[in-house]
Amino acid sequence: MKHHNLPVFVPFYGCPHRCVFCDQRSITGQADVWDADLVRQELERYAASVPEGDEAEIAFFGGTFTGIPRKAQQAYLDIAASFVRDGRAKGIRFSTRPDCLDGDTVDFLKGYPLSCVELGIQSLSDRVLQKIRRGHDAACAMDAMERLRKAGIPFAGQMMTGLPGSTPEDETETAQGIIRAGACEARIYPLVVFAGTDLERMCREGDYTPPGQQEMLRRTAAVLELFRQAGVKVLRIGLCENESLRNPGVAVDGAKESALGERVWSLVYQKRVEAEMARRGPVTGPGQWVIEVPRGAESKVSGQKKENRMRWESAYPGVRVRIRGLYPPDSDRLTVRFEAEQKKQ
Ligand code: SF4
Repeated sequence: MKHHNLPVFVPFYGCPHRCVFCDQRSITGQADVWDADLVRQELERYAASVPEGDEAEIAFFGGTFTGIPRKAQQAYLDIAASFVRDGRAKGIRFSTRPDCLDGDTVDFLKGYPLSCVELGIQSLSDRVLQKIRRGHDAACAMDAMERLRKAGIPFAGQMMTGLPGSTPEDETETAQGIIRAGACEARIYPLVVFAGTDLERMCREGDYTPPGQQEMLRRTAAVLELFRQAGVKVLRIGLCENESLRNPGVAVDGAKESALGERVWSLVYQKRVEAEMARRGPVTGPGQWVIEVPRGAESKVSGQKKENRMRWESAYPGVRVRIRGLYPPDSDRLTVRFEAEQKKQ
């Protein structure tokens, strides 16, 4: 069964704060749908295109959903809920900021069939939150997650790596905090420096230098591994690739490399496979390592330009590497075994 998002772009009313990394252009550039009737028409159109047997989820994108006027939230959610009630969607998701999620808002949301509220946590270090001028502290983020958990509303934690003032320890503690709070999903955004942001000015004035590519990769992989071990599904690593990200005049520094998410997954697989190989003890060729992974993960295991595969083949001369997609795509299983080649009599 395939999953489809039925996307609705909510209007951006602006934030009371301006995070230093915020690229206003990418927010205001969205095609906003203001009118509730237009939302219904859009959803009708998308829902009609979902093949029978597939599942659909309504996703409000593009703004701080609970920051828009309550009347608009209610109008949107009432329409979306009608699609869930008649079976055309399995639930509703949207993203918001922790400081736009007080007790009254959570009580209001409880009445709707929400499949996930995505919370922009970014960091659970007060020092980092202050540096990025997020406008709230870590306790506010923890309280928002606790309110959702108590209300039985599933939530995702969105966090960033490489933020100003952030250390690898801050990032692992942020991931651990999100896990402990009960998130069922996560998104990890390695920091990108966009032109025209306060962050770009900080870079120019020498107040901030983004981590190098390899370090960003390692730090993001460390966080991904924590979520993976905790069974928290990571929906995405890095921003969606679009023209802004590819334009060196727009994305000026940081994690603007394409296929970054794939590379982070490859690093996590590299470490997992090597731990299994080490557990197996010394092997000598001829023979082959057989690595069995979820279907669809083969290229991540092999690595970009097959770098993992080549690394293993050069570490074990005379030993081939075979990667098989064996397990269901949403499984986390990985098995590594060595098959010695039978000597001919
Ligand atoms: S919360 Fe999001 S939209 Fe608001 S300033 Fe920060 S990054 Fe920009």
